[in-house]
Amino acid sequence: MRKHIVAGNWKMNNDLPQSELLITDLLKQNQTSDAEVMIAPTFTNLWQAFESLRQESIEVIAQNMHFAENGAYTGEISASMLKSIGVKTVILGHSERRAYFNETDESLAKKVDAALANDMRTIFCFGEELQDRKSENHEAVVESQIKNALFHLEADAFKNIVLAYEPVWAIGTGETASPEQAQDMHAFIRKTLADKYGNDVADSVSILYGGSVKPGNAKEIFGKPDVDGGLIGGAALNAEDFYAIVNAF
Ligand code: PEP
Repeated sequence: MRKHIVAGNWKMNNDLPQSELLITDLLKQNQTSDAEVMIAPTFTNLWQAFESLRQESIEVIAQNMHFAENGAYTGEISASMLKSIGVKTVILGHSERRAYFNETDESLAKKVDAALANDMRTIFCFGEELQDRKSENHEAVVESQIKNALFHLEADAFKNIVLAYEPVWAIGTGETASPEQAQDMHAFIRKTLADKYGNDVADSVSILYGGSVKPGNAKEIFGKPDVDGGLIGGAALNAEDFYAIVNAF
């Protein structure tokens, strides 16, 4: 059985008091689904979030990290630093990192390696741009993103990999892939994995959908057989909305 996962990516939102308030609100919500719940606050709020949620079932995860262990990389954070405060999962390759911070499949492959070397789980994000979809090139783009960043790994490494398909045209735009578009792409991703690593690996990897998931559309999207959860941006900033999505399974 694949894990259901709902992860909230707070992006560059919430200072420390706002983060504390949102966590207080999250703790008032009831979970009725079997989903693993995660939140990814900014680096400055990670420790406080981790302390507040130490005894709770919400996992605190990071939005990014550097591939080096330490050294002259001003402004960066390493996997071992995250690990030292208890963070065990990191989001890598978000389209905003790719677009605004020049992250490439090649640099992301190094980050994935660093996360795995530190026994950290990676939520690896990828997805096509609007022009790729319009030119019906979306599958080829997604396939090359996955192959370039992940296919150097041994099959065993996929125990610590979660995939997040996030069509760039659907992130923060209010535009969502239809449940059918999401299912078609997730099935394609699983087949791509199966062709390289076999069905056992492909069937065990959770594939999340991200892109304007809201309380009103989550049930239909999560109802598709190859959609194992969601990476949530805007709707993760409101505790009730976020839990409506968590409970959409
Ligand atoms: C995201 O940032 O990963 C995301 C999916 O954002 P939103 O839900 O706001 O589209």
